[in-house]
Amino acid sequence: MAVDATQPYDDQNIFAKILRGEIPNKTVYEDDFALAFHDINPQAPLHILVIPKGAYVSWDDFSAKASDAEIAGFVRAVGHVAREQGLVEPGYRLLANTGTQSHQEVPHLHVHVFGGRPMGPMLAR
Ligand code: AMP
Repeated sequence: MAVDATQPYDDQNIFAKILRGEIPNKTVYEDDFALAFHDINPQAPLHILVIPKGAYVSWDDFSAKASDAEIAGFVRAVGHVAREQGLVEPGYRLLANTGTQSHQEVPHLHVHVFGGRPMGPMLAR
């Protein structure tokens, strides 16, 4: 079911369980502010999710309530992952579904990093 971006944080969501180590993941990067791991159902040759370590439902929640250090740390982690994966020269796409109309499914902020092929049009028409 799609997430309402304004709902309270649910600490039983699947990414909260991943952060607590209760569910396995294929980690590609971790620091104090972020965890990056392979999407379980990749939509591109490279499809990585980057999530903040803090309990934030959505981009809206994070951008409104996270500290400057958390925001800087998270943004730097996304850039670091893309560089480390060799995506800067060929190019890559970032996506952060936020709320119902975007079809956000997991109520913990995540930025999708897509790469490894031409991405095509920005949105399906
Ligand atoms: P969204 O629709 O933007 O909320 O995307 C949620 C993403 O999480 C989807 O691309 C799923 O394939 C992915 N996903 C769900 N469960 C897991 C999991 N346990 N490990 C890795 N990725 C997952």
